[in-house]
Amino acid sequence: MPLIVQKFGGSSVADTQKILAAARKAIRAQQEGNQVVTVVSAMGDSTDDLIDLAKQISDSPPAREMDMLLSTGEQVSVSLMAMAVHALGHRAVSMTGAQMGIETSSVHGKARINKIKSDRLRKALEAGNIVIAAGFQGIDENFNITTLGRGGSDTTAVALAAVLGADSCEIYTDVDGVYTTDPRLLPEARRVKQISYDEMLELASLGAGVMHSRSIEFGKKFDVPIHVRSSFTDIPGTMIVAQGESDNQAVSGATLVKNEARITLLGVPDVPGSSLAVFSKIAARNITVDMIVQNVAADGKADISFTVVKEELPTTLAAVEEAVRELGADGFTSDENCAKASVVGLGMAKQTGVAQKMFRSLADAGVNIQMITTSEIKISVLVARDQGQTALRTVHQAFDLQLPPPAATEAKADAKDAKAAPAGDVADVVARLQGVEGMEDLTIDDVQLDDTQARVTINGVPDAPGVAAQVFEQIAADGVFVDMIVQSFGRSGKANLSLTVPRTDLAKALKTTEAIVRKLDCGPVSSAPKVAKLSVSGIGMRSHTGVAIRMFRALAEAGINVEMINTSEVRVNVVVDGGAGAKGLAALQAAFADTLR
Ligand code: ADP
Ligand code: ASP
Ligand code: MG
Repeated sequence: MPLIVQKFGGSSVADTQKILAAARKAIRAQQEGNQVVTVVSAMGDSTDDLIDLAKQISDSPPAREMDMLLSTGEQVSVSLMAMAVHALGHRAVSMTGAQMGIETSSVHGKARINKIKSDRLRKALEAGNIVIAAGFQGIDENFNITTLGRGGSDTTAVALAAVLGADSCEIYTDVDGVYTTDPRLLPEARRVKQISYDEMLELASLGAGVMHSRSIEFGKKFDVPIHVRSSFTDIPGTMIVAQGESDNQAVSGATLVKNEARITLLGVPDVPGSSLAVFSKIAARNITVDMIVQNVAADGKADISFTVVKEELPTTLAAVEEAVRELGADGFTSDENCAKASVVGLGMAKQTGVAQKMFRSLADAGVNIQMITTSEIKISVLVARDQGQTALRTVHQAFDLQLPPPAATEAKADAKDAKAAPAGDVADVVARLQGVEGMEDLTIDDVQLDDTQARVTINGVPDAPGVAAQVFEQIAADGVFVDMIVQSFGRSGKANLSLTVPRTDLAKALKTTEAIVRKLDCGPVSSAPKVAKLSVSGIGMRSHTGVAIRMFRALAEAGINVEMINTSEVRVNVVVDGGAGAKGLAALQAAFADTLR
């Protein structure tokens, strides 16, 4: 019998009428001939209310007790939902994470699912019940209740769909699908019919709160098509599958994160191990670093800039002070009023001019770019918080995201066809999963070396709108394909802007940048005719925060200095000296040997 997993978010079960409506949806799915598992979040804002309660008792409640408390939110809603199904004349049984056999790591507040022993759940289904599953929670090996992190019910739903080999996973929420950006921020945002796992993963981790990013990692890893749709209307919604709407659209979505803080370490000795020293101190305080931008400077010293969520700035600064002292760096600066705007699209890997268009539109809107990071499928810029909304609207307009992609290139967006794995393979997937420990473990697909590129760095870029726009416009006009772009926040408010280009195009790129630098009276321009770009790609690259540190450590131990770095959900790239490529590759392969699949 086909099996459906449905998930109802907090706003979809915010009161008893809504719970009854959700129960009717589950019953309808069962009457259509499916086995049904319904994952439910806590009612409305009740998780926030529980957090407030705890804060009234203590500023730093024990993490274990916090999970004990927060898990009750979902226990309330699953029991009420099961009662609703009963009241409507059908059979249901509610289950907590522990009862469903969701075994997790012991990291309270952000536990990862290791294994799901689904036999109890299956028995309940086979007995004709609708199983009402508590989202967001599990149990560790010592029977402590754990939670998966805010928004984690999405992850419960997709993980259950994966182990049960579900035919579909429907995420019911208060918005009728995935939009090109948060429709609450920009009313002109457009609902997309279909989006790829990679794009959704990137969007979710860059701030699109509609899906918990780890749920998309499960979807991708275990080939679960995810259908995001409204609890309140019958609009078809959005399919998250292997392929997006259109394969030659450069940008498919934009995001804004408003609560970023920037920290810059100034004059860090440019020797192996500096980044490692900084970021391991921060990781030791359980702080997740967001944008990391490291840039070579002209005087053999580097500036390292990165961002954290604003609330974590004080703790981060304590770690930074320590690192500055130990490394003998010149000092540090910080700014707690930043926002990060990003554009994401699989198509940008194949097109020139995306960065140029983004930077030009921002310059014309008077938005100053403080930092830039890119990956194959995203470009993020850090701006002043009060310019964040303008930045989002500007880039959304610049890429015409409000308009549907050209019809001729639209991929088939039929939900029924979207599941990539034919039915016969489901049994294989399930069999594979039953034996899997560490379902959410980091998996690395590949460690690669690209030694075809050269680097150009412009030092002393003035802190004013328009410089990046000019640089990339003119380089694009030369027909040169720019790969990595990194702009750091530097000394006395001036930035360093580094980019990599094919080695054969270095002369052209240098000529162009030198002309711009003369005109703007900044500089100097420095370059490296041969750099090596080392990449580690896989699933869970950013949510497993240790990946960048593991890379820094492996390279530092091999005596290799990192010149540039950029990260995305699916890949971390570092640029090192051209002569160190093969040695760096070997060091990284050894460092990730245990996670290569
Ligand atoms: P739930 O409680 O159902 O899990 P969430 O509040 O977690 O719902 O997620 C839904 C919200 O996500 C929407 O109300 C919307 O404001 C926000 N959102 C952010 N980015 C996007 C996007 N790109 N598309 C759709 N919704 C988005
Ligand atoms: N109730 C949890 C939260 O508010 C989990 C979820 O809604 O997905 O974060
Ligand atoms: Mg949510």
